[in-house]
Amino acid sequence: MYSIILLNKEGEIIYFSENLPSLFGYKKEDFSKVLAERLEPFLPTSLAPSGKLFSQGEVVIPYRKGGRELLFFDLLIGAKIIFLLSRTKERLSIRTLEAVLNSWEEPAFLEREGVVILANERMGELLGCGKEDLMGEVWENFIILGEGKELGGNSLPVIVQTREGKRVDFTARIHELSWAESSFFRFVILRKDKEEKNELLNRAFLIQRKKLLQMTEELEKMNRELLRLNEAKSEFVSAVSHDLRTPLTTIMEGIRLCEDGTLGEVNPEQKKFLRLALEEAQRLADFINDLLDLSRIESGRISIRRRKMEVEKLIFRVLNPFQKVKESKGITINISLPEGLPPVFADEAHCYRILNNLLGNALKFTPLGGEIEITTEFSPERQEVIIGVKDTGIGIPKKEQGKIFQKFCRIERSGGQNIPGTGLGLALCKELVEINGGKIWFRSEENKGSQFYFSLPLYSEVLELKDDLKWAEEQTKKSNLPLALFLIEGLGEKPANFYEELESILQKENRASGFYRWLPLKEELVIFLIAPSEKFYDNHLVLCDFLKKKFTIMPLISYQIFLPKEVNQDEILKMVLKKEKV
Ligand code: ADP
Repeated sequence: MYSIILLNKEGEIIYFSENLPSLFGYKKEDFSKVLAERLEPFLPTSLAPSGKLFSQGEVVIPYRKGGRELLFFDLLIGAKIIFLLSRTKERLSIRTLEAVLNSWEEPAFLEREGVVILANERMGELLGCGKEDLMGEVWENFIILGEGKELGGNSLPVIVQTREGKRVDFTARIHELSWAESSFFRFVILRKDKEEKNELLNRAFLIQRKKLLQMTEELEKMNRELLRLNEAKSEFVSAVSHDLRTPLTTIMEGIRLCEDGTLGEVNPEQKKFLRLALEEAQRLADFINDLLDLSRIESGRISIRRRKMEVEKLIFRVLNPFQKVKESKGITINISLPEGLPPVFADEAHCYRILNNLLGNALKFTPLGGEIEITTEFSPERQEVIIGVKDTGIGIPKKEQGKIFQKFCRIERSGGQNIPGTGLGLALCKELVEINGGKIWFRSEENKGSQFYFSLPLYSEVLELKDDLKWAEEQTKKSNLPLALFLIEGLGEKPANFYEELESILQKENRASGFYRWLPLKEELVIFLIAPSEKFYDNHLVLCDFLKKKFTIMPLISYQIFLPKEVNQDEILKMVLKKEKV
């Protein structure tokens, strides 16, 4: 059984299948009220976009004489709201029907009981409106059949009336789609008579197109093979590095235990060699870590979590472990921090590695008694903070400057002062700065010193929201589960532990899928939730329950579901920020 219910944008029922009221024992005029009550929770609220939207759910409808039945529905939103009710869970996929429609090059639509359920782009173009505007419309509004004719059989001549009132002759071809015994949808495909005559020409064109597609496919195949080989290389580097890291940790731990005397007394001579071994092992560990990180970046597997971050705190965290080197080389490190430096938006672990590398280089390439300065500067025009590390060291020869961000870079210096290194540090810094949305550059003069700078974007809610959406999109694609977006408006003063409690109830609710994230935007709260669609309604109820308990005046919750293929960051961003500038 398939029945349909049509509602206008205001949520008022304007049509339902005739079989429905008698099925549940109601008179037609009473049934509207019963339905309205039952469907109300599923109606889209302020979040409903003008674009298409599909979702699924379950609704319980009471029999007039007692008892009730659970029906499954597909919800489609276009110019009208369409509920397709079914008694069985196994039903036609709306996405598939849409894909079939889109595959027709002619204008086409899917109809049931005289109502357009879905239409393709061409259909909209033909009539002069969007295809969503046709969803829920009675097709008799734009298709005129001959006197006494019905839309049936295989094909029949029709006149199509555009929105501007123009009339065009077409042949309508009708394909019936049976499902669950007798119920069916009908595909109506419109063909221009002239087009039939041009069929031969069309066919020649199609053959050419097929050849082109074949060639594209071959190219894509080769491309995929290249990508696969590249991936295999990255995987190899990553696997080898991984396998080296584990035994190295054990070796270092062993040396450390010997060196600090835990395993028995060691004389100063032995201690000296153990210390040396430990330092070399540490260098090897750093090299492996750099190699691993670079291969992760190359294969797009590096994890990045940008957050609001204070630059000052970062500088002091990085400086701390360098105290010993600094003292042993008699180098002074000055820090210049302007007052009121705004927070940046970056991954703290990445920034730590960047600054750690730059400072490590500055200390390594600056002779005894030299000077290093860490600078910070806020650029209002570029909306970024620039962090600099300046040294008075050996500098980089002009002719070598072009390659210092390349992997495994080795620099030829006059006088044979070649200091050992892996040449991976700066390559990694560049990659890390760039994935955080910044830039890295330097100035250097041989025997005078070098100045390295990197920029980081200022923190803003919009940037954070963009990252969250990117994350949400990745999760939906990875899990192939729909994305639910809840918008809670008018939260005002939040009770103590609001977020902690919310987190714990959502965690409980989403044990199976487990992905969610929220973003407080001034008075509002946006929650992204990636959960199976059956769970989505539970989440809605859980949120409502929670808010009801916490607030005397219930905040407004609106929600929307996006299937994995439908998640469109820009559209969601605009919706969430509404009139704010994006
Ligand atoms: P590594 O230092 O491990 O060799 P890096 O990628 O960090 O690798 O640096 C690449 C090269 O750039 C270094 O070998 C060094 O010659 C040069 N370099 C980097 N930083 C400085 C600096 N502050 N002063 C002089 N030379 C530098």
